Amino acid sequence: MKKILILGGGTSGWMAAACFAKVLRPLGIDVVLVESTEIGTVGVGEATIPSILSFIQLLGIDEREFIQATQASFKLGIHFVDWRNLGEAYWHQFGTVGANIDGVEFYQHWLKSQRRGNAAAFTDYAPAVVMAQKNKFSRVGDDPRHTLHGAKYALHFDATLVAAYLRRYAEERGVVRIDAKVESVILRDGGNVKSIILNDGCEIDADFFIDCSGFKGVIIEKALQTGYEDWSAYLPCDSAVVAQTTNVGAPAPYTQSTALTSGWQWRIPLQHRTGNGYVFCSKYSDRDTAKELFCRNLQGSLITEPRFLSFITGKRKKLWNKNCVAVGLASGFLEPLESTSIHLAMKAVLKFIEMLPAGNSTQATQDEYNRVMDAEYLSIRDFIILHYCTTQRRDTDFWKYCAAMAIPDTLQNKLELFRAQGRLYRDEFDLFTRNSWYAVLEGMGVRPEAHDPLVDLSHVDEVANMMNRALRLMEQAADGLPDHQQFMMENCRAPDPSN
Ligand SMILES: Cc1cc2nc3c(=O)[nH]c(=O)nc-3n(C[C@H](O)[C@H](O)[C@H](O)COP(=O)(O)OP(=O)(O)OC[C@H]3O[C@@H](n4cnc5c(N)ncnc54)[C@H](O)[C@@H]3O)c2cc1C
Repeated sequence: MKKILILGGGTSGWMAAACFAKVLRPLGIDVVLVESTEIGTVGVGEATIPSILSFIQLLGIDEREFIQATQASFKLGIHFVDWRNLGEAYWHQFGTVGANIDGVEFYQHWLKSQRRGNAAAFTDYAPAVVMAQKNKFSRVGDDPRHTLHGAKYALHFDATLVAAYLRRYAEERGVVRIDAKVESVILRDGGNVKSIILNDGCEIDADFFIDCSGFKGVIIEKALQTGYEDWSAYLPCDSAVVAQTTNVGAPAPYTQSTALTSGWQWRIPLQHRTGNGYVFCSKYSDRDTAKELFCRNLQGSLITEPRFLSFITGKRKKLWNKNCVAVGLASGFLEPLESTSIHLAMKAVLKFIEMLPAGNSTQATQDEYNRVMDAEYLSIRDFIILHYCTTQRRDTDFWKYCAAMAIPDTLQNKLELFRAQGRLYRDEFDLFTRNSWYAVLEGMGVRPEAHDPLVDLSHVDEVANMMNRALRLMEQAADGLPDHQQFMMENCRAPDPSN
């Protein structure tokens, strides 16, 4: 392996380039990135999950500098509004919810306590939610002595600024960037990719190709004809209308996801503006109706005109095919309900580095990579479907479809097991923890018929006292923290872009 070519300069292309600059350039491997400013990037993708912080750390990037350069704000979880029923809301927290009691999961104790009339919601015991509800933020989650220990956070950021930041990082470390349009891809006998031909006629060859060319999949699909698994029967949304607005008030430390008539709308507050989008299903809403509803639900005034994007939920049949790995939108699409695409791009790049072939890759290497990445994709897919298939809404044809649709066996089995006694088992590659599943299941009103009998070994009044005390202490601790806005202004204030 002497030379790797990355096609595409969106978030995923520059994430790959930055990682390769850090890890593969010192091995003497040349890295070239080709992108076309004429084609541009998708320009969305602004909410993340906590793994983004490990990525920044791995690259040796200072978190404060990154936040300032990308106008980032902090994210403690997602607030889901109107998903179960109109007028109802719930939280999906980052980090822990309560703690095991007498060796049994907190959720099981909470179930029993709920049945005895304890009114607090499950995620009221999540330190991240206690902070989010009060618009507070501090990095106390990592401090084992702090009452709010266990809260985790991620970032909301400006996707264009992230690509620009990572580009600087990668170019400073020797990645070569070429601004050109790829016109065609040349294959060798046997089907491996030999080179790409640019619009100026130049031919660039490489030993390995990372396709980050977005939905088109210029190498993985157009040239290698890998094929696509279509999951739209489970996740029927296929369109989005997106726009940026001015901030109204201080940015909240969480993403808001509001279910609308034929999909859902996100609100992602950054330091300098808010990102918005309505993900909808074109079978149940035309574009004009979607745009009208989207604009009606916006806060603040428009900075950019609403624009539409189309997609098909699913993934390439092989994420590694021949001497090409697809990363980001070129690898597939899962709607941004749980902000998982950037995480998947990061996983793809790190897994590729872990399995880096010395020369030609063996079939076994490709198969193993595909097995692991498929499992990652599938577990996230099922978690996203969970938000739809458990809805109690029947007010529109879209929600009626979601409530009645067939779901994958993997999710069906999980739900059946859960409904009996609240048991959940995670597979090796599941991204989301049991607490994440409990939060969404409970938020959507799915409760097991009985609690784990082991809970009955604990003294019920002692447990109730412990839980009440924990709530009180967490509330007090959160009251003592700075507001999210104040924390950002004091610790990582980004420059005013209008100056
Ligand atoms: C509506 C929506 C909302 C989303 N929200 C989130 C979110 O909140 N969180 C999250 O994690 N993810 C989100 N995503 C996904 C996220 O946007 C992407 O994962 C991320 O932006 C990476 O995109 P990309 O780099 O793969 O593709 P793109 O940004 O599309 O980049 C493609 C690159 O390939 C180049 N290119 C294409 N064809 C050629 C060619 N022929 N020659 C040369 N260059 C070419 C383009 O110029 C561009 O540089 C969202 C996606 C959508 C559609």
